[in-house]
Amino acid sequence: MKTKTFERPPILTTDERERLFVEAGSLYVAPHAHFMLGLSGLSALEVVSLDVRHVSRNGVEAVPIIEVPNVDLREVEVGPTRPEQISETTRRALNRYIAWRRNRCLHFRFSMRTEVDAQGAVRCCNCGDLADFLSSPLFDSRQGDRLSVHRLRHEFEEFRDMLELNPALRFDSLRETFIADLIGRGPGKRAA
Ligand SMILES: [Zn+2]
Repeated sequence: MKTKTFERPPILTTDERERLFVEAGSLYVAPHAHFMLGLSGLSALEVVSLDVRHVSRNGVEAVPIIEVPNVDLREVEVGPTRPEQISETTRRALNRYIAWRRNRCLHFRFSMRTEVDAQGAVRCCNCGDLADFLSSPLFDSRQGDRLSVHRLRHEFEEFRDMLELNPALRFDSLRETFIADLIGRGPGKRAA
């Protein structure tokens, strides 16, 4: 049984939010989408568990209400998905990300040559992505597998430090900021 007490992460101030989403967001398409989903109330585990089909029906455009997989700590899907309404800004960030993903390989424009990997999955010969885009992990790592929670948290910390934000902020601060917004406690009204 876990006895570790849960310490609530600090929330982002208006200024910190602006720096994270305007300064970083205009340049870094994938991190911007990660951060926007965090600010839409998704946990780090939920963000990395998304497949393309959870946010898009056609693999081109994101939907305004996404499906969030119900995953446990082993990252195994354990129940039905949860519908989650995302903001227009988040939807646009996802659209930009999907467009960027589709530009990574010519296989979206030309018929792809495929191969079957050791696990029996059909992949593009050129980039190694799954042939079925909708069933692919929405966010992948440089190695081509699903982005990990560890990597996602680390990415947030890199941006936090690069932009000189409060060093106590962590990825979960995004979700905490979302909750604070819902109950009218933030942003910028961080408790003393
Ligand atoms: Zn490809």
